[in-house]
Amino acid sequence: MKIWLDGKLVDESEAKISVFDHGLLYGDGVFEGLRFYNGRVFRLEEHIRRLFDSAHAICLELPWTQEEVIKFTCETVAANGLTDGYIRLVVTRGAGELGLNPYLCKTPSMFIIASTIKLYPEEYYQNGLAIITCATRRPAPAALMPQVKSLNYLNNIMAKVEAIQSNALEAVMLNEQGYVAECTGDNLFLIKNGVLLTPLISDGALDGITRAVILELADQLGVPFKEKSLTRYDIYTADECFLTGTAAEVIPVVSLDRRKIGDGKPGEFTKRFLKAFHELAGSTGTPVA
Ligand code: PMP
Repeated sequence: MKIWLDGKLVDESEAKISVFDHGLLYGDGVFEGLRFYNGRVFRLEEHIRRLFDSAHAICLELPWTQEEVIKFTCETVAANGLTDGYIRLVVTRGAGELGLNPYLCKTPSMFIIASTIKLYPEEYYQNGLAIITCATRRPAPAALMPQVKSLNYLNNIMAKVEAIQSNALEAVMLNEQGYVAECTGDNLFLIKNGVLLTPLISDGALDGITRAVILELADQLGVPFKEKSLTRYDIYTADECFLTGTAAEVIPVVSLDRRKIGDGKPGEFTKRFLKAFHELAGSTGTPVA
């Protein structure tokens, strides 16, 4: 496997970064996860824009333009001869000293991995996930800005640990006020009386690229939608529920905290969104070569 690292495509065994890198020492950096289908990277420009926004928000200025990063991403996919898969693009603060001061890190590092990912076994896309609410809360925006896709994912990992320890694959995370924010790595959607509902970004969700695609598709499919504060009650009493994310794509949820959602099976709206998402993802995107 060829990895893009700081301007060069190198062999996996040579793709190494310093133990003094603040990305490793402090989780100081940002990242993106992207997918490519049929040799085309889906929503590439949106992902790179979000990467640059995340970096800018943490005072990390990249020494490349967005156009250059787009080019490097496509080159990495092409160099690995893949047509379908997942890209992990990571920007770290760079090597510095054993202290917090990020200004002592002279140059950010960037690496790009083009590989594959399987987040959930196929049967869950057919039958839906049974998920739980976890005790780990999304940090308040004044603590860790939820829109920043930073390397500091310990909060999400603790939530995932709770899910797995409860024999679930995903967990709903609430914000400090008790409103639903999102799941550990996915955004959450409900269908209630024919209306598509999803939490506000300001309730602590990541501004998901797949989330935005679903809202676009809702327009195209003629499904009315609302972004609003949601509680667990709204999920328990919804007709349908599904999660979205670049790695997860669109996956149905059939229960929360052992309360059946709707009739406990993936619903018709969910199936329509799943199909429309795959049609769009399979037929659009930036060609890698
Ligand atoms: N929330 C979190 C916390 C995430 O890490 C992700 C990405 N895996 C998402 C939501 C979904 O965002 P996207 O659709 O842009 O992948």
